[in-house]
Amino acid sequence: MDYNSGSFDLIAHKVTPLLSSLPLHPRLLQTLDDLGLNEPTPIQQQAIPLALEGQDLIASAETGSGKTFAFMLPTLDRLLNTPAPDSGTRVLILVPTRELAHQILKQGEKLIKGTRLQIGLITGGESFKYQRALFRKNPEIIVATPGRLLEHLEQGTPDFQGLEVLILDEADRMLDMGFSDDVLSITGQCNSERQTLLFSATLSHRGLKGIIDTLLRDPAVITLSTVRDRHGSITQQIIPADDKIHKKNLLAWLLQNETYDKALVFTNTKLQADALGPELRKQGLRVGVLHGDMTQDERNQMMGLLRQGTIKTLVATDVAARGLDIKGVDLVINFDMARSGKDYVHRIGRTGRAGEQGLAISLISHQEWNLMTGIERYLKHEFERRLIKEIAGEYRGPKKLKRSGKAAGGKKKTASTTAEKAKNKKAKQRLRDKKNIGKRRQPKDAETAAPREAGHKPLTRKASKPTASD
Ligand code: AMP
Repeated sequence: MDYNSGSFDLIAHKVTPLLSSLPLHPRLLQTLDDLGLNEPTPIQQQAIPLALEGQDLIASAETGSGKTFAFMLPTLDRLLNTPAPDSGTRVLILVPTRELAHQILKQGEKLIKGTRLQIGLITGGESFKYQRALFRKNPEIIVATPGRLLEHLEQGTPDFQGLEVLILDEADRMLDMGFSDDVLSITGQCNSERQTLLFSATLSHRGLKGIIDTLLRDPAVITLSTVRDRHGSITQQIIPADDKIHKKNLLAWLLQNETYDKALVFTNTKLQADALGPELRKQGLRVGVLHGDMTQDERNQMMGLLRQGTIKTLVATDVAARGLDIKGVDLVINFDMARSGKDYVHRIGRTGRAGEQGLAISLISHQEWNLMTGIERYLKHEFERRLIKEIAGEYRGPKKLKRSGKAAGGKKKTASTTAEKAKNKKAKQRLRDKKNIGKRRQPKDAETAAPREAGHKPLTRKASKPTASD
């Protein structure tokens, strides 16, 4: 099945209709007006009318595209038009991370304000007992991460037999994070007559087909341009760096001299994030840290500080920053280069939202050069090369480049490295060989051993590729 085949051509719609022209419940139109929202985003423009007709839907849309309202508005419209008091859960929204769940809860709360509808949150890191009590209150809408929800289902607490709408948000992330089986176990206990809406940053994820074929019925498909296609609003630069110390100097310089409202700095390890935070604070910068080892309360607190502007910069790891929607992030710095094109896209997607301009800068050491050019090829986009005169280091990129942009020529073998290797090889004596020490050789072996060894090529291990995690 070609999930892109049903895509809609936005360009054909020259005039953007107003949100108020959508056939939504008057209560919701009033709320949108109160929130000062007038024009639908492209995903809302396409998804809302189809979802209102009860269609199953697959949409490629990222955080920042307005996707939450795209699935919330038609779903709330259904709940408001057909009240069903005291029933079990009517809408289940499954998401990969706690942060995203919190964000959706907040947006949902804004939309249901003034109605009798209730929304509940079920994620890890929160009290299990409290959550059990929450189910007893029968909120119409549940926003949940799969792991914790499954634990509740195993105890028989939730009731999804009357579920009317199932929403899978950031489905590709859920698969990446290994939630595929959990999602299928949960959906196996949901009413099969429901409407299912699936949102994913990309529809080309390998695992999606299975989920889509199992869970959706004749879905309409909406594809929108992704961050990968959307270079226009994000300036992407690289700055070569000699080593970690140089990177730290570059980072501090950028945070002190760039013009920005809020910045996100990405590291590949929690350890690095923890180390950078205090170092930058010592230089008078207002910096916080966000990573997966922090408790939910600590994470929420940190997000709050950034939103209020108490801190201006957040040093984060990929997992912690997944799905974050923070308004006004206009600078993303990769202290460590992202490990893949996909991760890079997720990182820089935190900026340049809703048509705003953003700047993404990656600090590239010589070990990261080839990784960086690989990401350029993935994006089909060449990053701007930048030097900061005040603290330019020695490294300017590889002296010679292959046509692919990768560094040409590896390290030359020196006498000492060759001797070192020979020594190591000697050290790697096989257990099998050791066992034979002292044993008398069979005459048959003695005959065949010599000629075989003479022509035998030793098996050598392939040199492992350099990685970005230094
Ligand atoms: P999302 O993609 O759902 O994470 O939404 C990103 C942000 O866009 C949220 O802060 C929403 O409040 C905001 N938003 C959603 N719809 C609209 C709209 N039609 N116009 C302006 N902002 C919107």
